Amino acid sequence: MRRRSGGRRALAALVLLAACGPAVAVTRRDVPQAPPSFLVQAAAMPAYALPPTRAAPSGPAPDELAGLTSRDVPQTLNGTFDVVPGTVPGTVPAPGVGPVTTVRVETEQGLPVDAQRFAGFVMDTLDDPHGWGAGGRMSFVRTGSDDATIQVLLASPDTLDRLCSPIDTTGELSCRSGARAVLNFYRWVNGQEDYAGNTTGYRRYLVNHEVGHVLGHGHEPCPGAGMPAPVMQQQTLGLNGCTQNPWPYP
Ligand SMILES: [Zn+2]
Repeated sequence: MRRRSGGRRALAALVLLAACGPAVAVTRRDVPQAPPSFLVQAAAMPAYALPPTRAAPSGPAPDELAGLTSRDVPQTLNGTFDVVPGTVPGTVPAPGVGPVTTVRVETEQGLPVDAQRFAGFVMDTLDDPHGWGAGGRMSFVRTGSDDATIQVLLASPDTLDRLCSPIDTTGELSCRSGARAVLNFYRWVNGQEDYAGNTTGYRRYLVNHEVGHVLGHGHEPCPGAGMPAPVMQQQTLGLNGCTQNPWPYP
């Protein structure tokens, strides 16, 4: 069974999240039992039509595409990561000729993932024409080298809590710590309620959001009801009246 934080703890976490700056930033899914007013406003909003997903009409199932070999989430692993070997660009090339940013992808030992598929998902997300490289701003290439500019880690909940400390990530959050975008395997499996039926979209969001922090971007609010959520909105907390949007440049 997963542990659930109480309302008081969730509120405390939200306060901490609200205060998080560019040094360490986190995302959070659950709306607490007694949400603050800005979340209450979101609850009163009408339902909005979900935009179409970018998932291909055929091809691997979403979980397979994301590298999952099981939906079982190990709460605790030993904290040792394997670097996904190889130096390859995403299969979707970045538009233009933006400067290359190197990315090292790592998965914690014991996670039920196909590491190459997971790495492919990450790179395709980063090099999507709607990603951070849009318009030739930059392009991303995966490397196994120690001197990668960005690291993307997939971690069990307890390991993530440790890597993201002192932020209280409650086993359910993801974070950025230094050059590391640390993705929570619990979240990778389960997505987020407001992305129901579009877990692929949520996974794209998670990669873009945490890597966005590594690139120096801070949080942004929902700009208005019915508008696409900025990728740097804390969409794991809920869409707050905005519509799903996983992309920096949708
Ligand atoms: Zn964030």
